[in-house]
Amino acid sequence: MSDASCLFCRIVAGEIPATLVAETPHAVAFRDIAPKAPVHILVIPRRHVTSLAVATDAGELGEILALAARVAEQEGVSDTGYRVVTNVGEDGGQSVGHLHFHVLGGRALGWPPG
Ligand code: 5GP
Ligand code: ZN
Repeated sequence: MSDASCLFCRIVAGEIPATLVAETPHAVAFRDIAPKAPVHILVIPRRHVTSLAVATDAGELGEILALAARVAEQEGVSDTGYRVVTNVGEDGGQSVGHLHFHVLGGRALGWPPG
């Protein structure tokens, strides 16, 4: 399923440009347009899934997380460490309604997040 009004569906479809860094049959990884760390990649399902709250396909989720780890390796932050996070809903700070996991690294990340 794809949503014509969804920014990330349009990136998956190639209608909006993005810097892709890796892909699998069900997932795509691309650079965040406004990076919050030296490495900031978004890993998303090709299918339109609004957020983790409604994600039910364990295989798809596993593929996304495995891709996140692969991307971290590819970006050279596996040894120094990194964070994988998904924001859900308003309090979670989700601004794009298509499930995405942020892969952040390349500097010490604060905890807890603001
Ligand atoms: P959220 O705030 O929903 O957790 O994360 C959305 C992320 O998408 C933000 O980090 C934001 O910078 C990124 N973003 C928003 N619009 C675009 C875009 O058009 N292209 C790319 N590559 N990233 C985007
Ligand atoms: Zn979408």
